[in-house]
Amino acid sequence: MALAKDTGFLLRKIPYSESSFILKAFTREHGLLTFMAKGAKQPKSRHHGLLDPVLHLQFLFPAFSRSDIRILGEVSLMRDFPGIREDIVKQGLSCIFSEILLRYTPSESDSSQFHDLLLAAQEGLESSSSERTVLQAKLSAFLLGYCDISGFQPQFQNCVRCGSALSGSNIPFLMDRGGPLCASCQRAEPATFFLRENIVRWLDAIQTGGEVPAVGRTDAWRAEEFLLSYLGRHTGGEKNLKSVAVWHELLGDA
Ligand SMILES: [Zn+2]
Repeated sequence: MALAKDTGFLLRKIPYSESSFILKAFTREHGLLTFMAKGAKQPKSRHHGLLDPVLHLQFLFPAFSRSDIRILGEVSLMRDFPGIREDIVKQGLSCIFSEILLRYTPSESDSSQFHDLLLAAQEGLESSSSERTVLQAKLSAFLLGYCDISGFQPQFQNCVRCGSALSGSNIPFLMDRGGPLCASCQRAEPATFFLRENIVRWLDAIQTGGEVPAVGRTDAWRAEEFLLSYLGRHTGGEKNLKSVAVWHELLGDA
């Protein structure tokens, strides 16, 4: 039997039977895969301690399978992220990254870029401070990166219709065109979403790598809500992500 080897992350772990797990993994070359990890619940299992969604892993599995579920062979650790494992708030954010990949699954041909985005996001989170606004900026950066490699990167600098500078404290944003509107274009085109000026500047700084200005928690939430809605709009419908509500609870915002 030909075996394939690939690196990736576990996105979901579902108990199955007395002793096994069904796993959803996102891999670099094969995209989303479903594995059966036989006997993995037993303490003596060779997979014991390795089937943790935070870890970067290497999987060995049958290269071809008649079923959608492949039997998982060897698993080895590529990289541990103790800074995330030991911080419940960081772990909550990492779960959002996973759920986004699970719910807005990219095509197999683009999987390497998404795998690398997730790996970079985990690495950034591992060494990041646990300060709330820093973590909120990490989520927005991940969502912007996701939109970028999906081919619908938004911009926050100039009017999307005429190219003029933006003005006013409440800036209209055209979801379908991926950009904001200036005051005069706004009259001709009804906007679907309004963002306060400081949120627009915040998102622009995160996207362009500029110095990220401080924003309040509500503004960072609004940015997150906007990006999730934008991602949903461009991928055939917004999905409700449970991990987002859980993360807000962990942050004490629920
Ligand atoms: Zn304009």
